[in-house]
Amino acid sequence: MNSKELFERSLRVSPGGVHSPVRSFKSVGREPIFFSSAKGAYINSVEGDRYIDFCQSFGPNILGHRDPDVQAVVSEMIDKVWSLGACDPYSLELSEWIIERLNFIQKLRFVCSGTEAVMSVLRLARAATKREKILKFNGCYHGHVDSMLVKAGSGLAGDAASDSAGVSEQVAKTTLVCDLDDDKGLEEVFKKEGANIAAVIIEPLPANFGLLIQREEFIEKIFTLARKHKALVIFDEVISGFRVGLGGMAEKLGVKPDIVTYGKIIGGSFPVGCYAASAELMDMMAPSGPVYQAGTLAANPIGMCAGLATLKKLETCDVFNVLNERTHKFTQKLQQGFDDNNLDLSVQSESSLFWIHKKSAQKIRSIEQFSKGHAESYKGLFNGALKRGVYMAPSAYEVGFVSYAHTDEILSQAADAIIDAAKESHVQA
Ligand SMILES: *Cc1c(COP(=O)(O)O)cnc(C)c1O
Repeated sequence: MNSKELFERSLRVSPGGVHSPVRSFKSVGREPIFFSSAKGAYINSVEGDRYIDFCQSFGPNILGHRDPDVQAVVSEMIDKVWSLGACDPYSLELSEWIIERLNFIQKLRFVCSGTEAVMSVLRLARAATKREKILKFNGCYHGHVDSMLVKAGSGLAGDAASDSAGVSEQVAKTTLVCDLDDDKGLEEVFKKEGANIAAVIIEPLPANFGLLIQREEFIEKIFTLARKHKALVIFDEVISGFRVGLGGMAEKLGVKPDIVTYGKIIGGSFPVGCYAASAELMDMMAPSGPVYQAGTLAANPIGMCAGLATLKKLETCDVFNVLNERTHKFTQKLQQGFDDNNLDLSVQSESSLFWIHKKSAQKIRSIEQFSKGHAESYKGLFNGALKRGVYMAPSAYEVGFVSYAHTDEILSQAADAIIDAAKESHVQA
């Protein structure tokens, strides 16, 4: 069966033929490729074609596909236990390992996805502050939690409107929205709604609508205003956690968010999410406190062990520094190639994340600043790279992920392919 046939069958049994919208390749103007195996930096299609993979499951595979050290641990667990629904030593070991290293959290709880982590902490924040509203930023993604699927409303500053059918306006109204990089807008919302805000939630390194690197002063402003108005600060580090460093952006910026959410890397490519905070806040959760949250498959033993093996390797192999250096070299080469050929493309990068976008006059820090035609411009680049054996995320708004399995040699080869693709599909600036 080739991808085309498999997609036809999938369309009959799943909406749009997929289990998560981006997988449909809709925004890159072609049908999806079906992949059946992967190893290291590479992913293999059912047709038997091999691609250098920069999607890496949208983040979890920081060590690449099936890292040998993690695979050994997973294989051992397969022969021991799959799911218990009871207390186990594996989740304890992972909890202690994390808490020993991250000095801004004291207790944590494991769930099964980033969405679930966010959903739980919004409930916790409301319970802890006895306030109703959550302030989020345009251009930050926090999973498909009802109250987070909102956009800026047409009314007063901060007002939100539903951004998905099925999200009631009533729920949308409990959320306030503000643009990233907009100090004045933030001040205004706090001035108006400060006493009602339970928490501000932000991706401290927004990486779901392109890579929108924030000014440190903007993050500081969030803390200042939140502290002043007694609102909590939630860092959604589902992408940035264990990626920009073990302690994520909280550690990198040297700040102390009240609550943090994790996902992706923390489960070593298995479905694990997590939320963490001070002991005082976390003890508000059931069964020690009144805020309910539970999970049949929570802290799944295989995810716990894969997660711990992954995190240990990040530390022992100095993975962050290696990745930073390799990614830097790779993105420099890309930018040089674009510039040498007068192509209207820029590369934005932070740690092991990169984002290729249509050139703009200023550094892009909010979705307001995107160049017109960015998505259209990405289509050609994506398809040209694909033709040359490089698989980038099938959307102009998703970032690229460099893994530990991407050697300098693989990256250099990928850069050549992407530059060639750009030369073919892009207008000269
Ligand atoms: C991926 C992501 C989520 C959602 O996590 P899922 O595991 O897909 O539910 C939430 N927040 C951020 C910042 C993410 O990157």
